[in-house]
Amino acid sequence: MKIAFYDTKPYDKIWFEPMAKEAGMEMIFHESKLNEDTVMLAKECDAVCIFVNDTANKEVIEQLVGYGVKGILLRCAGFNNVDFRTAKDHITVYRVPSYSPEAVAEYTMAMILAVNRQIHRAYVRTKEFNFSIHGLMGIDLHDKVAGVIGTGKIGQMMIDILKGFKMKILAYDLFPNEKLDVDYVDLDTLLKESDVITLHCPLTAETKHIICKESIEKMKDGVILVNSSRGALIKTSDLIDGLNRKKFLGVGLDVYEEEEEYFFEDKSNEIVVDEELVRLTAYPNVIISSHQAFFTTEAMKAIAQVTIENAKSLIQGVSSQNEVKLLE
Ligand code: NAD
Repeated sequence: MKIAFYDTKPYDKIWFEPMAKEAGMEMIFHESKLNEDTVMLAKECDAVCIFVNDTANKEVIEQLVGYGVKGILLRCAGFNNVDFRTAKDHITVYRVPSYSPEAVAEYTMAMILAVNRQIHRAYVRTKEFNFSIHGLMGIDLHDKVAGVIGTGKIGQMMIDILKGFKMKILAYDLFPNEKLDVDYVDLDTLLKESDVITLHCPLTAETKHIICKESIEKMKDGVILVNSSRGALIKTSDLIDGLNRKKFLGVGLDVYEEEEEYFFEDKSNEIVVDEELVRLTAYPNVIISSHQAFFTTEAMKAIAQVTIENAKSLIQGVSSQNEVKLLE
């Protein structure tokens, strides 16, 4: 079995290379992302292995099918970058539904703590021997209200962690989980009553820009907002407007609406022309990281293991619960 592996970084090879070898699979590692210009690298391959910022749109999938590629192996949980209308009946799509929800939730909590207590600014100050704490005041999380939007695997881990901080939890989900010991409320109530809001729902047509001018207006002044899910859950221009109006105590973004061109890449020698990204980076109460919430040893190993299993299912033609079938 031959697999074209797109958007390869050195850390991808650590687990994938030996595991593919052991499974008797040939993995061809490409640094470029999958898109209309690079799809030809998948010629003569059985599958492509892609990540969050690769593009599997109509044109790309039609090309892949034309080359005889039988599967798309997403090495992530989210699948908003795949056009399922075109994929249906022509190419099988697999994902890694869960690798380490703990990794993402733990990182999200780190962001909440960092923006609240301004650890990012304290670090820079003491590096410069500036030991003043003026301007670094945060709030106690104890007894405050945390609003969790999306109570799937990561949202549930998040709730456990927030409960450890003795926060009161309000949850919102399209499909509330009756088994969870948590108060489900409507979205408006969550927005109005939460001191911390954390996003853990997938990016869909319904959730795109779930955080926008209207929803930001409903939030408490001095709210902390954290997004480690998908960038387009937040309408960036409205977030910037809210930041300018001093709505937020802090904002933590591990994902960004237009991240494709920048995240995971070293752009430090270039001029960044995305004005919204530059603006966001300039706020003292905003922390941006480059989609790294998942990035732990445990998660990387699990991603490689499940992706290799998905590749085996594809080549053996056996059904797998990791197949993504949106249009049935
Ligand atoms: P999951 O499928 O287990 O849970 C998602 C939850 O969102 C479900 O309970 C679902 O009912 C709910 N939901 C769906 N549509 C909704 C809507 N319109 N409004 C409210 N809730 C809705 O997924 P998960 O494993 O918990 O992952 C959540 C998201 O985290 C993924 O979709 C992915 O985008 C993101 N993620 C980010 C990273 C990272 O490194 N930053 C890593 C993994 C996953």
